[in-house]
Amino acid sequence: MRLAGKTALVTAAGQGIGRACVLAMAAEGAEVWATDVNPKLLDGYDGVAGVRAVPLDVLDKAAIARVVQVMPRVDVLFNCAGFVHNGTVLQASDADWEFAFQLNARAQFWTIQAVLPRMLANDEGRGRGSIINMASVCSSIKGLPNRFIYGASKAAVIGLTKSVAADFVGQGIRCNAICPGTVDTPSLQDRINAHDDPVAARKAFIARQPMGRLATAEEIAPLVVYLASEESVFATGQAFAVDGGITI
Ligand code: NAD
Repeated sequence: MRLAGKTALVTAAGQGIGRACVLAMAAEGAEVWATDVNPKLLDGYDGVAGVRAVPLDVLDKAAIARVVQVMPRVDVLFNCAGFVHNGTVLQASDADWEFAFQLNARAQFWTIQAVLPRMLANDEGRGRGSIINMASVCSSIKGLPNRFIYGASKAAVIGLTKSVAADFVGQGIRCNAICPGTVDTPSLQDRINAHDDPVAARKAFIARQPMGRLATAEEIAPLVVYLASEESVFATGQAFAVDGGITI
């Protein structure tokens, strides 16, 4: 049990990568607070040992504080919530930009600010905690077509990750980002369905993956478990790609 004794907070845990990571962390002995803006999706955790499902909109700063306040302890934060805007700079509105940065970057700022005092108090004030932020290969790592706002906001995630890591490296806090390639999740399927020709759209997503297939959410979860665990105790401030070769 690599996460025994640890309590984790996960955002956007109702489906997709967030859910796969919650189940993987709970299977390794963590107590996981699985949160999502959509309470219906949280019903899927009924009867799952080690998981406490709590509705949470990460655009609501006060709600984040309320959840963190009632947690008995916080060892791990996995910031998974994010939104994909489709389009070039010429198709981007101010509102699109604001929304994506609020969900993809500002929400991580808020959750980190809420949990850090708890993490710094761990181990009798010596500090211990692992923060894992969802970025993407589409960020400062790689430009992809029609991902102007998304790439910019996920680059911000890598920047804020490194800043937190640098500020708290001497106080027991680690902060890393993960950068998946294309993962077959409900939101990806929604994006595929939004195309005029969904079959061609799926083929195009697969074509950009050198392994010739999409990842499953379960193939991303082991990286999150590793970063949450003490196995990664010497790793901080990094952006870990798990991308099927898209950045080779
Ligand atoms: P998904 O659609 O499968 O799940 C997204 C979840 O986020 C939903 O359960 C939704 O209810 C929740 N959510 C939306 N707004 C929220 C809010 N304001 N507060 C709390 N929860 C909210 O998504 P996914 O594809 O698993 O993506 C999860 C994360 O992984 C995102 O940050 C995404 O950018 C990132 N990512 C995805 C891929 C991919 O190919 N799927 C690749 C790289 C990175």
